[in-house]
Amino acid sequence: MPSSTMDSTCGPTPKKRRGRSHDASRVGSSEDSESGSPLSSSLGCRVLVLNRFYMAIRVVNVRRAMTLLYRECAEVISIEDGSYMNYDFDAWCEVSQILALEKQPEEDYLQAVGFEIQVPRIIRLTRYDKLPKTSVRFNRKSVFARDDHKCQYCGQKRPMSQLSLDHVIPRAHGGKTTWENIVCCCLACNSKKGGRNPAQAGMKLLSKPAKPRSNPAMSIPLDDPKYASWKTFIQDADASTG
Ligand SMILES: [Zn+2]
Repeated sequence: MPSSTMDSTCGPTPKKRRGRSHDASRVGSSEDSESGSPLSSSLGCRVLVLNRFYMAIRVVNVRRAMTLLYRECAEVISIEDGSYMNYDFDAWCEVSQILALEKQPEEDYLQAVGFEIQVPRIIRLTRYDKLPKTSVRFNRKSVFARDDHKCQYCGQKRPMSQLSLDHVIPRAHGGKTTWENIVCCCLACNSKKGGRNPAQAGMKLLSKPAKPRSNPAMSIPLDDPKYASWKTFIQDADASTG
């Protein structure tokens, strides 16, 4: 979903907040550029977004999540002792100050002016009632995500700038531009393969390309303790779209 769609659920003008001591717009503003600092690693975290009905719809970065919270478009969902707790922005700021006294290794914090905010793992758009997309859009990013940014010939994982899309059966041989015939390929393998099919080039695919079952942006390492709370929602999403 483009961000404008999500913005439309909040209304074009953010609600004016009076007497706020917590200013999300200033979170991390002074130290963003310091790469490798704990702050920049916190900003690199991902936040699962649920619709009003607690269905996973997408993943956003921390800055986007904080903006949605501050604009009262979303609330934090925190799983505590097996049940869901809902916090608006102010309540979450207050809770964060208590939680920050005894930080856990899987938690991340953002430095705001004079206090710390725990990075939420899940937020819920309180007025957004559209359902999760049932099919994955076919584009470069989705193919790379499906293939985990690994060249499907040599298995090397590369940044997006060093990857290309390869038609397994070349277009000149009638190969189509579909999920089943497009794979992620490093530049070296792409040039080695040229306009040949894998057998002609003496190359072998690591796996048979197929249309992914659900949004690959959701294929987050759920074994990472940071994102353990996502499990329920992601598995639900898979079951409902599968
Ligand atoms: Zn390769």
